[in-house]
Amino acid sequence: MKKFIIANWKCNPTTLIKAKQLFNSIKKVSKNTKNTEVIICPPFIYLKEIKKLQKEVKLGAQNYCWEEKGAFTGEISPLMLKDLGCEYVILGHSERRKYFSENDDLINKRLKSALKSGLKPILCIDNISQIKEGLKGISKQKVIIAYEPIWAIGTGKACGYKEAKKFNLLMKKALGERHITLYGGSVNSQNALGYIADSGFQGLLIGGASLNSKEFVKIVKLFSKI
Ligand code: PEP
Repeated sequence: MKKFIIANWKCNPTTLIKAKQLFNSIKKVSKNTKNTEVIICPPFIYLKEIKKLQKEVKLGAQNYCWEEKGAFTGEISPLMLKDLGCEYVILGHSERRKYFSENDDLINKRLKSALKSGLKPILCIDNISQIKEGLKGISKQKVIIAYEPIWAIGTGKACGYKEAKKFNLLMKKALGERHITLYGGSVNSQNALGYIADSGFQGLLIGGASLNSKEFVKIVKLFSKI
């Protein structure tokens, strides 16, 4: 089964020069992965420039509007993302739920709009009810689900493999055995492989460690050995 590594740069780095440096230091390894899709999710403003550095790069957006166009000041639409060569979108991230008051209804609306425009959604959840609510009226097979325990995000306290496996089994029960599920939360090169080998996930969503090129390259290289 194909594996996934998603790099969530969040609101980093602060300049285009630094964003290009970061991408240049990981682009070789990100392209030459056997059986693993490496998806880079930078801030909107860097998407186009990163695509210019490597046309084969798989890009994801961290946010987007559910409408295609119109009077929605400040928003970026799925059609605009597609036009920039974006294939994936992250949604339901706990930071968006916490700091921008996003709820399951809004996330459901966004999911529908992503699927309609042909973007592949990566839905972040930290409890099973968010799967049920977020996926209402949606063909669930098309949505990658990332289990991201809130307490593990950016804290350095990654979820234990056994506990992560337990939650993964719950998700597989709700979604189907072959559904693509990812783990995210304080992943680094030391703990990365255990979530695949011991907890049964198909990939990782990586925040902090995706900003450290050495660490990120190490993780991608580890994936090419499994
Ligand atoms: C995230 O923001 O999705 C995440 C997993 O962050 P970190 O790897 O830094 O915990």
